[in-house]
Formats: sequence, structure tokens, C-alpha cells
Amino acid sequence: MPTTWLTNANLVDVESGGLLPSQTVEVADGLVRSLASRPPAGETDVIDLDGRFLVPGLISCHTHLSIVFPMSETDPEEAPAATVLRAFKRAHDALAAGITTVRCVHEQNRADLWVRHGQAQGWLDAPRIYGAGRAITTPQGHGAGAACAVASGEEEFYRAACEELEAGADHVKIFINGGLARAGEDPSASEMDDGELAGTVRAADEHGTYVVAHSGASRAIRQALEKGVRCFEHAYELDGPTASLLAARGAYLTPTLIVTRCEPWMRANDFAEATIANARAAAPGHLESIRTAVAAGVPILCGTDLPPADDVGGLPATVLEMTLLEQAGLSRLGALQAATTTPARLMGMSAQLGQARPGFHADLVALDHNPLDGLEALGRPRLVMSRGKVVQCTL
Ligand SMILES: [Zn+2]
Repeated sequence: MPTTWLTNANLVDVESGGLLPSQTVEVADGLVRSLASRPPAGETDVIDLDGRFLVPGLISCHTHLSIVFPMSETDPEEAPAATVLRAFKRAHDALAAGITTVRCVHEQNRADLWVRHGQAQGWLDAPRIYGAGRAITTPQGHGAGAACAVASGEEEFYRAACEELEAGADHVKIFINGGLARAGEDPSASEMDDGELAGTVRAADEHGTYVVAHSGASRAIRQALEKGVRCFEHAYELDGPTASLLAARGAYLTPTLIVTRCEPWMRANDFAEATIANARAAAPGHLESIRTAVAAGVPILCGTDLPPADDVGGLPATVLEMTLLEQAGLSRLGALQAATTTPARLMGMSAQLGQARPGFHADLVALDHNPLDGLEALGRPRLVMSRGKVVQCTL
């Protein structure tokens, strides 16, 4: 692969919040190789960023590429080819929006693993995908009807988790509570017993990875934390002692605040009135819970549940979520880290992913404005580079 030089870049250091002005970035073999003041004489593959702000591509941590809206329309018998094509469309949109990595947390027909395969084969451009394959649900649980793997009891959960991991999943997704999607569903009711949690965590441990849990309320979160679950999603009702426990154990939280704050988007996607009402009712408590988590020092991840690049109020969902995290008490830099360095740490990729600096993957986004002056700047990328290749450019 030839060397590309990005010149006149104002490089945003997402670790310190500092700015390195007027940098030349050498990109080769998919990596940021070096920083310089100018490219060597005679270089032809030069892109002048003209003072734009260069940040690492975003990492969106709660993605369902294959999801159907409204979710009640999911056809568990859908042909895998159709699922994968839908997933690819969302993956493509995400990449164009500067979201260069997604963590998937349930895909029908393991569509995440197939899009990743297509990218690896060179058939298509897609973000880096960290996939769960199919989530595992209890027979009557939150994932029932959504084409999840179904298990009951410790051994079945262990086997189901092993099956997804052996199919290529990077982590295991479970549901420890109900959710907001269906009328009458109670997001605080526990859905898994100790044995089922232990079986799932044992499978993840044996494969050198972790379990991520759809979660609603504190009691089930404490139970799952006790059994070794390391990452929690949503947390609609989180109390102070449970937040402190999460922080003390180094567990991660993906708030997905956007799911209780996207009524016009839900209407546009034909959600049932009862689901919209559930989300609206949960919204104040959800924000309060995340404020509690932020104040307790829980590591926060940016994720949306909605397709990461869907337009919500004029911004891609992932960027809007970052602004909501700021409203929940994260500093602006902290919100930027929730979509860069913090997920990289969870994924064990701290030295390769989530920063724009030598030695890291060349997943880069150029912006007209510094996102540390306003995260909305991330909503209009002028150049997106993925694995050292320009995939979107309106310079
Ligand atoms: Zn979800």
C-alpha cells in the first residue's frame, strides 16, 4: 500500500485534550507511521487538510446493524442474505459518518460476523467490527422473538456462549433484565439466575473475553457483577451504591441515553405508541442514573442501540449520544473518550485503536471545527480514513 501524507492537520490528542498544530501525518500499511512538519520532497499522495482538525475515528459500542424497525416486525426466519445486506447498509453508513469501529451486541443470523468477513475478504468497506454474533436470551426473556440464541440453565448458557464465540464472536451478550421495547415489559425484573450467569461468564473466561449485559436496574446488575459480568448496557435505574460497586470493580457502562430521547425518530420508524410511552416515562430516571454513574467514576462508553449513523435531530445518533453524555456530567473530553480511548481499553486495544498517533491504526476523521469546542463538529466529517484508506472525502 502506498504512503499517504495528510498535511496541515491540527491533531486532537484525545487523551490529554491538547492540540498539535500544523502536523503532517504519514500513513502507510494501514497505520499512522509518523508525525512530521512536512512530507519529503517529491511525494505525490498528499492530502492538504488546510488546518482542519484530525481526530481518531469514533467507536460506537452498542450497535445492532441488522435490527428491523419497528422491532416487532422482526422475522426470525428471515433469509441470512437479506439480514446481511441490511447490516451492510448500516455498516456502510456508519463508516461514512466517521464511525470507524462498532461493537455489535446482537445480530440476527450473526450478520456482524459476515459483514466483518466481507471486509476481510476485500469485498466491501465497513467499520472494524467487534461482534457478539447472536445474543443469548432465556425462552421468555427480552431477546425472545428477536432471532437470539435461546438457552435455559447453566449448561445451556455455557454451550450457547461457546457456540457464538467459536463462530467468531469477540464477546458474549446476554439480557439480565427486561427492556422498554414491549408494552408491559418491566426493565427491573431479573431474567437470569446465578447459574446461567456463571455458565456464560465461564465460557467467556475460557475464550479470553468478557460478557456484556442488557441491564435495567440495580439488583440484577449487582447479581451479574458478582458473577463476573464486566460490561452493562442502558442502566435505566441505577442507584448510588451499585454505581460505586461498578466503579470499584472496573466494570463499564454504555448508557444509550438516546433510546429514551428520540421520540421523533421512533415515530418516523413506526414504533408502537406503548413503546414510545415506555421510553418517555423512563427518560428522567435514566438520565439521573447515568449522572449517578458518571459521578461515581464508572468508565462510560458511547453507544446508541439505534443504527449509529441514523440522523437524530440533525446529528448522527452516535454524535448525539456523545452530547447527551456531556449533559449527564462527563466533561467534553470525557465524552470524546467514551467513543475513542475508553472502548479501546475495554477491547484490549489501547495501544492500537482510539487515538491519532504513531503506531495506531489509521482510522482518522478530519473536521472543520475542534470537537473540544463543541461535539457537534463530529457530525460533519470532511474526510474519513479507515485502515489507511480514504473512504469519504468532501474537502
Ligand atoms: Zn440493544
